[in-house]
Amino acid sequence: MARYTGPVCRLCRRERTKLYLKGERCHTLKCPVAENSDRQKRSFPPGQHGAARQRQGSEYLAQLREKQKARRSYGLMEKQFRNLYEEASRRPGMTGTTLLQFLELRLDNVAFRAGWGASRAQARQFVRHGHVKVNGKRVTIPSFRVRPGDVVTLKDATRTNFNVVRNADVLDRSVPGWLETSENGFAVTIRAVPVREQIDESIKEQLIVELYSK
Ligand code: SF4
Repeated sequence: MARYTGPVCRLCRRERTKLYLKGERCHTLKCPVAENSDRQKRSFPPGQHGAARQRQGSEYLAQLREKQKARRSYGLMEKQFRNLYEEASRRPGMTGTTLLQFLELRLDNVAFRAGWGASRAQARQFVRHGHVKVNGKRVTIPSFRVRPGDVVTLKDATRTNFNVVRNADVLDRSVPGWLETSENGFAVTIRAVPVREQIDESIKEQLIVELYSK
């Protein structure tokens, strides 16, 4: 699947908010979007006229930016994100919440939430390279949707991987309540589909629904 391979801080600068795409660096003053950043001079949107351009306050712009923020946070391309929205809209209940639940239940996101990857991009690479198992079977599809009761584990040989050990030591992220950890944090069981309050993302999903339902 095609994916964005350019500089990711650019995406945060465009959204004027932290999307936490780089892992450890996102929590340091090197982040150009951080308050008191030592790179504060680059906290404006990218591009030649990024610093000078005034943001127009239209309703459409707010909806578009919210959609881009969500899509970029989870590392999806437009088509895949749109398909996920279409599927969510066919389900009963709140479309926006269902969309976020689908995003959270992606295997690469679970590997990220479990603290194995410093960023979703790194977690996706672990999945792609066959380091992650679901119910004992290797799954290499980052978009694989886990279900309540599934057990996601990190391959034994990967548990001593330098990056995994470092992420566990340095990042100190807490695992959300809808995941239950075991095997020293190298296995997580999906307890339930996360409710909105358990999804730690400052996304206004209603704006995404409004954008796509035009
Ligand atoms: Fe870059 Fe991370 Fe800061 Fe985003 S949050 S600008 S990815 S360092």
